[in-house]
Amino acid sequence: MEVTRFAPSPNGSLHLGHAFSAIAAHDIAQQRGGKFQLRIEDIDGVRSLPDKPDEFREDLAWLGLEWEEVPAQSTRLETYEAFARNLLARGYLYPCTCTRNEIMALKPRLGPEGAVYPGTCKGQMLDPEKPVALRLDVDRAMAELPELFWEDEVNGTQIADPRPFGDVILVRKDAPASYHLAATLDDAADGVTLVTRGQDLFAMTHIHRVLQELLGLPVPMWHHHPILLGEDGEKLAKRRGSPSLADRRKAGEDGKELAEQLRLGLFPAGITLASA
Ligand code: GLU
Ligand code: ZN
Repeated sequence: MEVTRFAPSPNGSLHLGHAFSAIAAHDIAQQRGGKFQLRIEDIDGVRSLPDKPDEFREDLAWLGLEWEEVPAQSTRLETYEAFARNLLARGYLYPCTCTRNEIMALKPRLGPEGAVYPGTCKGQMLDPEKPVALRLDVDRAMAELPELFWEDEVNGTQIADPRPFGDVILVRKDAPASYHLAATLDDAADGVTLVTRGQDLFAMTHIHRVLQELLGLPVPMWHHHPILLGEDGEKLAKRRGSPSLADRRKAGEDGKELAEQLRLGLFPAGITLASA
C-alpha cells in the first residue's frame, strides 16, 4: 500500500506552500488507495513552538484533508541515539567541536546547503570540555558502498552522491539527531513508501539514500513536487508576509475551496508554481 507523508516543523505557521505540499501527498495516497501521514518534526527542541501542532491539525482539517498521525520526533529520541551509536561504532561518524564562526573563518567552499565543512576535526584529538556534534564521514561511506540509485517520480532515476554537502552533521550538539538522520529513520519506521515533499529538498535525498544503505533501511520512492514562489520569485515563507493558513482560516476563508483552487493550479495573485 502506498504511504505518503507531510512532515512540517512546528517552528512557524503553515502557509500556502505547505497546503500545496500536504494536498499533493494526500491526493496521491487517496488516488492509489493508500495512506497519508502527518508527522510533526519537532526535533528542534528550542525552536519548536508548543501550540503549532494543534494549529497544523486544524489547518489540515480546514483544507478538508484526512490523515493518520504518526509519532512526533520528540518521542523518538532514543531510537535516533541507538542508530547514531551504531554508525559511530562502525566508524562512519566522527566528533566535531567546531563552532559556525570557526568554520566560516576557514572560508569553506559553498555546497547545496551553504558552507561545506572542511573536515578540520577528522582524525584529531579534541578538547573534551567542548560540546561535540557527530559528522558523517562521507568519503568513507562512499568508498565502501556500491553505487546507489534513487527513484523520483517527478525527476526520474538519480545516482546518490552526497559528497557536494561534505561531512554533514547527523547528531547535533543540542539534539540527538539532525533533520537528515531523524527524517530518514522516521520514514522507515512509519512505513513510508513515497517520500512526498517540495523540490527544495530534492538534493537532501542524496544524503538520505546513503543513510538508508548504511543503516539497512528499506528504500522508498520519492516525489519532489514543484514549489510555490512568491512575487519576489523566492520560496514562500511566512516571513515574506504571505498570510498563514491559520490567518486565512480565522478570517473565515473557505479552506476546502482554497484546496480545490490549489489543485487546479489557481493561485492567489503574485504566487506561481516554480518550473521544475
Ligand atoms: N520538516 C521539514 C520542513 O518542514 C520537511 C522535511 C521533509 O519533508 O523531509 O521543511
Ligand atoms: Zn570540527
